Amino acid sequence: MKSDRTKKLQRLDKAHVWHPFTQMKEWENSDPLVIDKGQGSYLIDTDGHRYLDGVSSLWVNVHGHGRPEIDRAIKAQLGKIAHSTLLGLGNTPSIELAERLIKIAPKGLKRVFFSDNGSTAVEIALKMSFQYWEQKGFEGKRKFIAFTGAYHGDTFGSMSVGEIDIFVKKYRPLLFSAFRAPYPYCYRCPVGKNSSDCKTECLKAFEDMLKKHSGEIAACIIEPVFQGAAGMIVAPPGFLKAVRSLTKKYGVLLIADEVATGFGRTGRMFACEVENVAPDFLCLAKGLTGGYMPLAATLTTEKIYKAFLGRYEEYKSFFHGHTYTGNPLGCAAALASLEIFEKEKVIKGLGPKIELFKKLLERFDDLPHVGEVRQIGLVAGIELVKDKKTKESFPARSRVGYRACLSMRDSGVILRPLGDIVVIMPPLSVKKSELKKIVEAAYKGIKEITEVQ
Ligand SMILES: *Cc1c(COP(=O)(O)O)cnc(C)c1O
Repeated sequence: MKSDRTKKLQRLDKAHVWHPFTQMKEWENSDPLVIDKGQGSYLIDTDGHRYLDGVSSLWVNVHGHGRPEIDRAIKAQLGKIAHSTLLGLGNTPSIELAERLIKIAPKGLKRVFFSDNGSTAVEIALKMSFQYWEQKGFEGKRKFIAFTGAYHGDTFGSMSVGEIDIFVKKYRPLLFSAFRAPYPYCYRCPVGKNSSDCKTECLKAFEDMLKKHSGEIAACIIEPVFQGAAGMIVAPPGFLKAVRSLTKKYGVLLIADEVATGFGRTGRMFACEVENVAPDFLCLAKGLTGGYMPLAATLTTEKIYKAFLGRYEEYKSFFHGHTYTGNPLGCAAALASLEIFEKEKVIKGLGPKIELFKKLLERFDDLPHVGEVRQIGLVAGIELVKDKKTKESFPARSRVGYRACLSMRDSGVILRPLGDIVVIMPPLSVKKSELKKIVEAAYKGIKEITEVQ
């Protein structure tokens, strides 16, 4: 039964709240859940129903909801000050967090520029790399190379390097152009190969572009190890390492967008560690605060930083900043989250959960409409197709992924798909029993919806 309070909130939501990435006509005709509380891996709605948060509240939550250590850290910071600016002033938690991030980040990263979301973390890396070359006297290096299927955020710069048509096509006339290299989405190979005749032609195409255009290219931006919004596309081992060595060879900076892959999702703290890669920029957001506060950071090297030094009137400063840059509450939450990582050896403890996750996912291959199951760490993408043989997709109007996920709510599990790719990305703190429940609900939901197609 729905309470009067729930009904009222739903009515007001539909009257006033415009939801992100949402066809509001569909929303207005839906029966939306209103989340009121969270506890561990669970979200609790206004009527007290509990749901497992199978996508970590859109890939952000790391240690579960209501973790006392993070709650306490935010409250303690509130007892001091909620916000002060980094424009012209320092603040305690941002200094402590910068030091702590540098300690755990890939080798060579020494400087931290704070902002408040993943898109801005990317904008900052794009602008810094552009300005770096300009100030080094290489004015021709003004472009970027990015990958097919990339997602880097929703601001204009980050959209320009992105390539998911439904997100960016409408805005193309306003975006700058970027070189586009094929990303190894091996299930649907961008260069038309299959596993038996693959000679990593995608890498060759990447190198050819660099060979021809490196004089025009400031930086390469990549989602290391797996592309998130494209559908949890896991690159074959060695790909990232090869991209790093090619960018080095051709004098192109490397921006690792770890907004989704960072903070343990791949089974390592950062995806770059999976292939022992050190980028020139590391973009962090989503899981940075454990999923408690909006905060982002762009890390870079001393080499980049030094190119911005000079006399004031040379105007070499990085003229960029956001009002809430380095917000103390966000930094306090991030410090508490990193403390949990360290104290509880979270990364080390993931092994058995990842093993179980892999095992639980095996049976999906038997479903007649599951084209591919991709998994790394505690992340999975299950691609649903109309025809397994031809890999033909379902028509967009049949809303298969969406309906499958809606039906999982009856089993007490919340997942949000990317088109017809069902995504599973629970908090790292998920219990084994909860993980089982999430995967079982996904199986049941997919089976139920695709069987009647
Ligand atoms: C989510 C995401 C972003 C954008 O982050 P926002 O905080 O939503 O602006 C950028 N890059 C990647 C890889 C992401 O997954």
